[in-house]
Amino acid sequence: MSGTKCWCCKHSIPATDRRGRQTAGCEWSLYRCKVPGWVARETIQIVSGKRLTSFEVLSCPRFERG
Ligand code: SF4
Repeated sequence: MSGTKCWCCKHSIPATDRRGRQTAGCEWSLYRCKVPGWVARETIQIVSGKRLTSFEVLSCPRFERG
């Protein structure tokens, strides 16, 4: 089980306000790109028989509890 910080971060689920302005979300949750300055460990997951690369985020400058 991953202990990634993303599970308790408000940016893990992208959101916009009524005007379409981004109120939550990050490089990772929006674009699957690394967040500059994060510390993360690469992980391999097997989903439906396919090997997927992901990351366990250990620390992240954009983290906000949510
Ligand atoms: S801001 Fe960092 S901790 Fe939060 S979801 Fe994005 S990568 Fe994860």
